[in-house]
This record gives sequence, structure tokens and C-alpha cells, in this order.
Amino acid sequence: QQPEEDILKDRSGLGSTDAMATQVYPNYPPDLTPEQEHYLLANLKDWSIAHGLAVRPTTAYVPTKQDPSVALATTAPITLYPSLFPRICFEQARSVAKAYNELYSAIASDEEWLKGTVEELLDIDDFIAELWKVHLDVKKEGYAQPLNLGLFRSDYMVHIDPSDPTSRPTVKQVEFNTIASSFGGLSTQVSALHKHLHSIEAYPDSTSSVIADTALPDATSVPKLAHGMAAAHQAYGPSSSGHPTCVIFLVQEPERNVFDQRHVEYALNKNHGVRTFRLPFHRVLKDTRVDSERRLLYAPPHKPDKPFEVSLVYFRAGYSPDEYTTPDHWKGRLQIERSAAIKCPSVLTQLAGTKKVQQVLATPHSPHLAKFLPDKDQASEVLKTFAPIYPMDKSEAGLEARSFAQDAEKCKRYVLKPQREGGGNNIYRSNIPGFLQEIPEEKWPAHILMEMIEPPAQQNVIFRNGEVQSGGVICELGVYGACLWEQGDGDGKREVVESSEAGYLLRTKGSGSEEGGVAAGFGSVDSACLV
Ligand code: ADP
Ligand code: MG
Ligand code: MG
Repeated sequence: QQPEEDILKDRSGLGSTDAMATQVYPNYPPDLTPEQEHYLLANLKDWSIAHGLAVRPTTAYVPTKQDPSVALATTAPITLYPSLFPRICFEQARSVAKAYNELYSAIASDEEWLKGTVEELLDIDDFIAELWKVHLDVKKEGYAQPLNLGLFRSDYMVHIDPSDPTSRPTVKQVEFNTIASSFGGLSTQVSALHKHLHSIEAYPDSTSSVIADTALPDATSVPKLAHGMAAAHQAYGPSSSGHPTCVIFLVQEPERNVFDQRHVEYALNKNHGVRTFRLPFHRVLKDTRVDSERRLLYAPPHKPDKPFEVSLVYFRAGYSPDEYTTPDHWKGRLQIERSAAIKCPSVLTQLAGTKKVQQVLATPHSPHLAKFLPDKDQASEVLKTFAPIYPMDKSEAGLEARSFAQDAEKCKRYVLKPQREGGGNNIYRSNIPGFLQEIPEEKWPAHILMEMIEPPAQQNVIFRNGEVQSGGVICELGVYGACLWEQGDGDGKREVVESSEAGYLLRTKGSGSEEGGVAAGFGSVDSACLV
């Protein structure tokens, strides 16, 4: 991981490509006088805390000794200004959201195909193997719940064909997330903050021609993600145990990004009247049980004699092997999976979101996309969003990838990724050859090799941990999708009950750093100013 100070260190550097947006608005964002900056920040700091655009402070920032009850919050890492983003790219990414819902719900419903795809990982990736075992254990007794909920997020960067810099920009997919797709809560809030700062004229007047109200799209992820969860809750049907129903947010503890999750939870309470509880991953076996009908019953620690029947378990935990510190974590995961609660996601849906699956779909002339997306128009639009990705096995494409990855020059155009989520796991550019040397060759196929997308850089200012940093930045657009489907017999057949695009997220980081996970200490949450 890169130290935080590295971010934005390159104040002059705009990266390799010229920013097309910056060419149109060369003085955006404008330099501020000390008085202007003071006014802007004073408003930003108060608004953000007043509206939960916040995270728990890091222990480095406020030691737990000083905040033993974990009562403090601080402004989330955010940009001062909305970043410029090409409208055609924004529309392109949104327009494929439902096709991606189709694609990934179909993959998650095809056990045979998934088995064939993750099979080569089982011997070399313990985490994937354990997840697969959970699936097999449940399969033995039969799944108790045919309904599945996916709250997905497909992440993109703007790509400009290097051989034709004047060509139209398009988006290329960085990755597809099927578990714990985060920042939907903060995205809605940061967009509202930027609109607020604009409306009170906290930005210098020169920005008003750029930030016309129409250029700032609403970030609707909170109500739309909550709507998706409410649809699942509804589809689960009324309680059959005699206990009231509830939705469980399965969470990590401690969690710095708690307010992001709370925004969705509060919308679910308020807009849909659904009861919700936060259940730390390590308490699954303590606070839940599966009854003889396989219903998942949850006894809140504060009212243990008033249990609830769980309609939906929404995972904001369980995506990383570091979280499974005891065998009880795996027992807890199995307990949820075999229950009749709807899972968001199921183990199979989580596995559908591996980078291996993304690579198999993106391999040139792959027949798999057409299999899962029979609609030719949809498939061709999805295909346009794929960047080149290679296996690291001994197939023809794999051998080619191995030669790129070990070449001191060629490797600089690539990123090497293991089957992991949550940021901080990838190996970039010239670090790839050395990394491969250090691990046994048998483990190479546990990774995929992906061409780096080189989005154009622009200027912005990031506010993080009370500090202001300005410089060259690049953006990553996420588009959420909500999909509820009923699984068939494991052969890819399923019935999609509800599918919708569910809002957007813009994350922005210094153009000098590779990672973009805001909570991991890199980058920031942003909103789009469409140009
Ligand atoms: P994770 O599941 O851990 O979030 P990602 O594939 O999203 O893994 O990679 C983490 C970050 O690395 C991304 O947010 C992005 O900033 C950067 N990244 C990953 N792949 C690429 C790529 N092909 N081109 C440019 N940047 C990339
Ligand atoms: Mg990512
Ligand atoms: Mg991811």
C-alpha cells in the first residue's frame, strides 16, 4: 500500500493524457483567496457533519484512548468541487446497468459454469475454496430460499484511444462488485453538499457557468438501494414464525464507514417501514439461529426475548479472508447461507463477482457473454465496456500474459489482481515482475492481468482528515444496480423479479496513486459535473 502522503504529491503532473474536460474549462476549479477558502471550508465542514457525510476518525487521527466510546465523527474524505465528467460516458455507464444485472444474475444462477470457472482456483486460493465449500454444504441439503438480491456496483474509468486522442471518450470497466458495494450512502450526501455549496455561492463566481444546476445530476443511490432491499423484504413475504420480520445489516466491527451504511438503513426504515438491525459478523452464532423450517431467527441482545424473523441479510462484511479469524466465522456464514433468509449476496453471487469471472467474460472471442446475455444489443453494449484482461494460467492467452507480466517494460501497462475485494490487494506496473518472483509459480493462476485504463487527469481539491490537498486527480465512476431474481435449478435459468439502475458514485484520487478505496486512506468521494 502507498503511504497516504503520496497521494496528490504530484501537484504539477496531469498524467499522460490531456484532460478533455480541462481543455474546455481550463480554470476549473479556480484558485481561492484565503478568505474564499475559509468560507468554503467552514460551510463544507458544518454541512458534512450535520448531514452525516462522515466517517469515524482513524485511530491514528484520534486514538481510541481519546474516544473510548467511539462517539466521534469526522468529515469523510471528499472533494471540494464536483469533478468534470463527460456526459456521454456517464450515460454510457448508466445505460448498461440493467444489462449487467441480467448478466450477473444469470452467472450466479449457473452453478455448473461457475464451478468450471473457479475450479482452477480451488487448490491455490483457500478463501475461494472455503466459499465453494459453503455452497456445497448447502447444496447437499438443498437451498431453502430461491430468491436472491444483488446490490451491484460496476466501476469504470474514462478511456481515450491513445492512437486517436481526438476520438470520443468511452468508459472501460475496472471491476464489477457483487458484495458490500459501498459508498452509496455518502455518494448521495456529497452530491447534495456540492449542490448546497453552489446554491449559497460558496464557490467563486467563475464556476457558475460550469456548475449550472442541470450539470449536476442527482445522486439517488440511497433511496434506490433501499428500494431494492425493500423489494426483497416484500418478496420474502409475511412472517410464518409468528415473530415480526426484519432486515439484518451484517457488518464489520469496528467500522469506520458506518454512516454510509446508516443512510441506506434509515431510508429503509423511513421510506418502507422496514425494521433493521446491525449484526457484527462475529456475533452471527450468538444472536441468530435457524429453526426447523430453516427460518433465520435473530434475537437482539438488548431484547433477547423478542426475536425477529430475518427476511434479508445484507452483507457489508464477509468479503475478505482476514475477517474469518475463527472457525465460527465460517459456521456463521454457513448458518446464514442455509437459512431461508434472502442473501445479498449468496455465496454463488459473491463468487460470480470474482476478478476471474470478469477475466473469463472479457477474454477476446469468449462465447460466455453471449451465453448469459442472449440479447445481442445488450451484449454488444456490455462488450464495449470491457478492458483487456488475461488469465495467468498456461493457456495461450495466459502464456502471453506471463511474458508481459515478467517484462520490465511491458509490465508498466498492467495491473495484477488476486481474487480479493476491498482495496489494497493489487500489484501495479513495475512491481509485478518482482512480486511474481516471490510467489510459487503454481499460485500465478490465482491472479488475473489487466491492462491499465489511463483516464485523463484534471485538477481538484481533496479534503481529508482536516487537510486540504490540491492537484491532479483522476476519477472512477461506479454505477449501482439492484436486481432481485428467483433461482432455477442451477442451470442458469432464473426469473428476474425486479431489476433497476440504482444511482452512481464518483471516487476521485490523486493522479499519482493507484488505489481508490476511500476508507482505506486513498482517494475521496466526489460528485459529477457533467460536461
Ligand atoms: P477492489 O475489488 O479491491 O476494489 P479493483 O479492481 O477495484 O479492486 O482495484 C482497486 C483500484 O485499483 C481501483 O479502484 C482503481 O483505482 C485501480 N485499478 C484497478 N484496475 C485498474 C485498471 N485496469 N486501470 C486503472 N486503474 C485500476
Ligand atoms: Mg474496486
Ligand atoms: Mg471490488
